[in-house]
Amino acid sequence: MSAAEPRQGRVQTVLGLVDPAELGPTLMHEHVFIDLTPPPLRQNPPPEQEADIELCNCWGIAYGQKPFMRNYRLDETDVAVAELRDMKAAGGASLVDLTVGGLNPQPDRLVEVARATGVHIVMGCGHYVNDYQHPANHTRTADDFAREMVEQLTVGAWGTQVRAGIIGEIGCQAPWTDLEQRVMHGALNAMQATGAALNVHPGRDADQPMEVVDFIRARGLPVDRVVISHIDRTIFDDERLLRLADTGCVIEFDLFGWEQTAYPAADIDMPNDGARLRMVKLLVDRGHRDQVLISHDICTRTRLGRYGGHGYQHIFANIAPRMLRRGFTQADVDTILVKTPRRLLTLI
Ligand SMILES: [Zn+2]
Repeated sequence: MSAAEPRQGRVQTVLGLVDPAELGPTLMHEHVFIDLTPPPLRQNPPPEQEADIELCNCWGIAYGQKPFMRNYRLDETDVAVAELRDMKAAGGASLVDLTVGGLNPQPDRLVEVARATGVHIVMGCGHYVNDYQHPANHTRTADDFAREMVEQLTVGAWGTQVRAGIIGEIGCQAPWTDLEQRVMHGALNAMQATGAALNVHPGRDADQPMEVVDFIRARGLPVDRVVISHIDRTIFDDERLLRLADTGCVIEFDLFGWEQTAYPAADIDMPNDGARLRMVKLLVDRGHRDQVLISHDICTRTRLGRYGGHGYQHIFANIAPRMLRRGFTQADVDTILVKTPRRLLTLI
């Protein structure tokens, strides 16, 4: 791979540029390595527990009943390799790791895992929500963030030579902070400069996805390469969902496998996989099939197969067959898992 190799029309993985046809079934929002430790616990860490996650404590840890610092970290290469091999055995071929600034991105370890498993890994870039960001970011400009993201996409990210292939997940909260808006502004400039797609992590407010889409449209930019993540914990009514879809943005249900309806960070009723599929079906039936993605957003240990969870294999092993039983066609499934990821990850 040389710096002069044309990027347009290709997909940037952590191992280099590949032909879009090579991607196959793709998970568009995952984390292979991450540190999601909440900022207050980072500043004042409780003493590390001795025990690891086991049969007798995994339910309580997954539910949030027991604080368990290690649950916030995915940091074991051998476990990551085994979990991605399970995904491949179930029919998955590619995965997007959206671990960005504030979440401890580890590009070199993604390279190691991609080599060991043969899974195509595309890496994100940019920064997560306000409180996770480095304090130095508070005085940086939108142009500075844009420059950084362009470099991460075209030269290398986080002190390595490994290039990102998508922008995001760009962190937003409700209310949307000034810093987060500057990062978003930078992300839009980087999008225009590099032809990469953008993934947005919206705040936990049903109107924030539309606020972000309006922010982008107000700058005269199209939103058909903008993915709004975490719709399953953000929008609960059909009317809002369809209004958002009508803008042309891509709507991502990325918490598949999270079957506990209790949600730790807010008092919401998290849908289960059946309810997620009902919303996906509504969008497909209303003509929005080309704008829907599904993924797991695995970011804690208890969601990995080796710690009592569903793992990256769940959508391929369980959800795709269930979609066919629920009135989705094979073409619907292929569009959601193959065609739309391929369109978004192809640099334009
Ligand atoms: Zn995520």
